[in-house]
Amino acid sequence: MQAPSVVSAKDLCLTYQTNDGPVHALSNVSLDIRKGEFVSFIGPSGCGKTTFLRVIADLERKTSGDIAINGMTPDEARKARAYGYVFQAPALYPWRTIEKNIALPLEIMGYPKHEQKKRIAGALDLVELTGFDKKFPWQLSGGMQQRASIARALAFDADLLLMDEPFGALDEIVRDHLNAALLKLWARTNKTICFVTHSIPEAVYLSTKIVVMSPRPGRVTDVIDSTLPNERPLDIRETPEFLEIAHRVREGLRAGHSYE
Ligand code: ADP
Ligand code: MG
Repeated sequence: MQAPSVVSAKDLCLTYQTNDGPVHALSNVSLDIRKGEFVSFIGPSGCGKTTFLRVIADLERKTSGDIAINGMTPDEARKARAYGYVFQAPALYPWRTIEKNIALPLEIMGYPKHEQKKRIAGALDLVELTGFDKKFPWQLSGGMQQRASIARALAFDADLLLMDEPFGALDEIVRDHLNAALLKLWARTNKTICFVTHSIPEAVYLSTKIVVMSPRPGRVTDVIDSTLPNERPLDIRETPEFLEIAHRVREGLRAGHSYE
């Protein structure tokens, strides 16, 4: 039996009107993301990765085509709090402790205090930051700050997590660690994750599905279903199976003429 559809796009187009004329950020994107999948979006700058996440999150409106999130319109999905959103920069308030940063959206949504506490503790546990709740963001390393911002997105307990280059600004060693931690979190929670990255190894290591995109117009050039097992030690990246998928991603990027 197939898992239920979480994101379903059909011939999705989005054109920005600018002073220099129309920019075709998304052109006929058709894609089906099912519950529990880990989907990476990879492609050069300007191929529409962020725009696609923003359409899901109801931050941009499609020009034509269809998009459904859990069978709902983006507007309905936003109101139903269908997703958590993690941005490239941690975007934590420096004057609030980690706990208070995570609490902020819960406060806005009107959760009672005891429910806030429970959710904050659960989210901190998932990102392995238990005990850091009273620290301020500047007392944490970059990697820990990004984990805190993931905890903030997890605190709603939405089934869908949208992550836009969350580890892009971190060094490779920290990134390795967070990649492994994210896989563990994904296995524990069975969430559906849409993850934007520039890194081929990161995309291949994390994903059950890799969406290769290309710019001008922004479009999908390949969708690769990973053959790797869900259990992935870091050294899986040296196996022939891994390198084969990485090769296909690279070919997909090249076929989009992205670097000419
Ligand atoms: P990516 O995240 O893959 O780098 P984006 O989705 O940010 O790509 O952008 C896709 C294209 O749309 C780019 O050409 C970008 O310049 C353009 N674009 C993005 N946001 C806007 C906007 N608000 N107004 C006009 N053009 C935009
Ligand atoms: Mg982007």
